[in-house]
Order: sequence, then structure tokens, then C-alpha cells
Amino acid sequence: MRTHRPAPAVIDRNGLDQLVKLLIADGRTVIGPVERDGAIVLDEIESGAELPDGVGAETGPGRYRLHRRADRAVFNHAAGPQSWKRFVHPVRQRVDAPEEPRPLAFIGVRPCDLAALSVLDGVFGAAPHPDRRYQARRDRAFVVAVDCVEPGATCFCASAGTGPAATGGYDLVLTERVEGGHRFLVSAGTVEGEEVLERLTRRNATREEAAEADRALRGAAESMERSLPATDLRALLARSRRSERWQEIADRCLACANCTMVCPTCFCTTVEDVTDLRGGRAERWRRWDSCFDPDFSYTAGGTVRTSVASRYRQWMSHKLGTWHDQFGTSGCVGCGRCIAWCPAGIDITAEAAALAREEEPR
Ligand code: SF4
Ligand code: SF4
Repeated sequence: MRTHRPAPAVIDRNGLDQLVKLLIADGRTVIGPVERDGAIVLDEIESGAELPDGVGAETGPGRYRLHRRADRAVFNHAAGPQSWKRFVHPVRQRVDAPEEPRPLAFIGVRPCDLAALSVLDGVFGAAPHPDRRYQARRDRAFVVAVDCVEPGATCFCASAGTGPAATGGYDLVLTERVEGGHRFLVSAGTVEGEEVLERLTRRNATREEAAEADRALRGAAESMERSLPATDLRALLARSRRSERWQEIADRCLACANCTMVCPTCFCTTVEDVTDLRGGRAERWRRWDSCFDPDFSYTAGGTVRTSVASRYRQWMSHKLGTWHDQFGTSGCVGCGRCIAWCPAGIDITAEAAALAREEEPR
């Protein structure tokens, strides 16, 4: 895998702490992965010391467990239950009052999540009605991406075309290496990234270090256990509307909406008007909603999608099919979160493969 980046620099673990400190000194709220309650979550950090230290994650359908690693890797854990979506498209936000969010800096954005931010840009940033709250957060965010050298068992970014190497959409990109000394290869993707990189204590990477990082990324792509079927998924989903598979899935699906909550691209919301008890003050709030909620499709006196089968079909058909019609890309970036966090272990790659198999000649 060729990353086509300018010759990288190298920083050590202290250099990562220096990067966090520098972004905070520049007036940014720095968000990064932290270990909490048995998971890697994303939260504001005040120093690089809060980043994970030698924590790995084991994932599978309906499974996510942390474990101690033999090294002190910071970023070698699979995508956790949260995504960066919550910082540019908050879970709950008041929409009838002005706001002045502090500029953000994201540390450790995986390639699938970079792609997810780009997908959200297409949803919220597009003319003629861009979401100005989203744009205010997103446009000022400084993004430090990290290549995935150790994909999780639920990852399938290689077949989704989004990873495991970051190819754009970042200010800086890190490739973490632990063997032969803990260090991070760093390249800038923007002028702002270059300016930050110049302020870090660094050295040039050797040719062998850059080649070894490329080999690690190639190995990561080859080691991925899951993939989407190599077919036109948009057309497959359109042809599968009457498949019996939807009912098979519905027999397992709890309609809990976990898959939509953890998905880094699901963007649906509802709006609530809240008044005080005397009715003298009203506020308008927008909060995340899910197409798995029967009320989500409530229109003119009735719910349009009454069955779980119709709701799962809607979700998956939108993700892999009609998203292309609406936004020109797939709505799935291959992060695997919906597989790991589905309590029933329903796997979107297995379901897409099952639909593809139904079309094979017997
Ligand atoms: S559908 Fe699943 S694998 Fe695809 S982006 Fe959403 S959570 Fe990730
Ligand atoms: S597919 Fe899984 S996570 Fe999604 S609604 Fe059904 S049970 Fe919940």
C-alpha cells in the first residue's frame, strides 16, 4: 500500500504529548481516545498522558473487550463505541440560540472515520441549505489522523475503499510503530498541519522506516477478515426489496437502534420544543433519532414502517444503496461498529453477502 505522502518526520511518545499541549495552547479543545468504563471512548483531554497506554480491543459480532497489550501502543485498538460525529453533530443541541463553539482538534481519527466525516460533510455541508452549526464546528477542526496498522476483527474498510491508510482529509497523519522503539511517523496534509509539524521536536524518517510503515499498512489491508461483496451494492439492494432475508434478520433484530447510534454516518434527528412549567419560555432542541424507532416514520396519523423487517431494510438499503442517489457516496465506511455493538450480533457484511448469494444461480 503506497500512501503517497511527503517524506515523513518522526516524533516519539513525548512528541505526541507536545502536540496535544501545542494544540491546547493554540486555543483548541482537544478530543482524543481515552480508556473509560471498559471501552475506548472519545473525550476532551488536557494532556497526552490521558491517551490510551498499551490497550487493545478485541471485537466480534456483539462483542467488544479491552485487553492489555505487551507494548505501550496508543492507537492500536479497534474503533470504539463512539465516533467523531458526536462532536460535529452533537447528540442533543439547542437550535434556536446562537453558539460560539471553541475550535476543536481531533487526535487519532482512523481512516474509516475520516471518510465518515467526509460523508457527513456531504450531508450537512451541501448547498443550498448547509447546516451552519455543523460547519462552524467542522471547518475549524484540526484533524490528526492515524493509520490503522492493526484492524479489528469487525473492520472492513479495505473493501469499503476507506482504509487502512489515511488518504486525505487530515491536517496531520500519524503511523504508530512500536517495534524497534515507540515512535510515530508524521506527515502533513495541509499548510496548517505543516506549521504545527514544524513546531514539534522531530527528525526525518529514514527510507527504511517509511518503507516499513507502508509494508505494515499493506499487511493490515491483507489481514482484514471481513469484506463487503464485490458487486454493485446499490443495484443489489434495489433488487432485494422483496427478499425473504429481511424477515430472517427481523427475527433476530431487537430494533434497539444501537447500530444507528454507533454508526459514524447515521445523521437522523428529531426536533423537540421544550417549555418551562408556566409556558412562558420555549426552547427548540434537536437530538439524534433512529430509523429503527417506529415513531421515526410517523406521518399523518400512522407509522409508515410498522415491521422490524421494513425498518432494517430501510437502514441497510439507505446505507449501501440509496445513499449513493442522495449524496453520491456509500453511507457505510466499513468501521464495523454496528457489528460489534449489535446485541444480536447482526453483521452488515454477512447480510449483504446473503443477499448477493440469493442471486447466484442454483
Ligand atoms: S453501517 Fe456499520 S460498518 Fe458501516 S459505517 Fe455504519 S457502523 Fe460502520
Ligand atoms: S441490527 Fe442489531 S443493533 Fe441494529 S437495531 Fe437490530 S438488534 Fe439493534
